[in-house]
Amino acid sequence: MLLASVEAESISVKEAVEIVELVTAVPELVRRTIAIAEERGIVKREGGRLVIRERVVGTKGHGVQVKRRECNAQCMRCGRRISTCFFLIVAESEFGPFGSECIKRLRLGTQRL
Ligand SMILES: [Zn+2]
Repeated sequence: MLLASVEAESISVKEAVEIVELVTAVPELVRRTIAIAEERGIVKREGGRLVIRERVVGTKGHGVQVKRRECNAQCMRCGRRISTCFFLIVAESEFGPFGSECIKRLRLGTQRL
């Protein structure tokens, strides 16, 4: 669960949408993923924000891992040219590449690399 890997106490719904959009571009799936996180008690809606209640930090097989690799590509999120690529590994699928700024901006944590 992507949202359990966010390194913040709470995030806005908009930020949650941006994070989930990293791994799917289907609006229905984005809404569904956030709804499931709420149902499972991973996040709790509090006045327009989502409080992260359950945190999974890069445990193998759980949560999200961030992998770093030298590259020459474009960030999938903002289109910026990048030479250090970050990939999100969610349930054994790899998403990316993303630039460090996008990963940091969404607080997905690059310090445990
Ligand atoms: Zn980017």
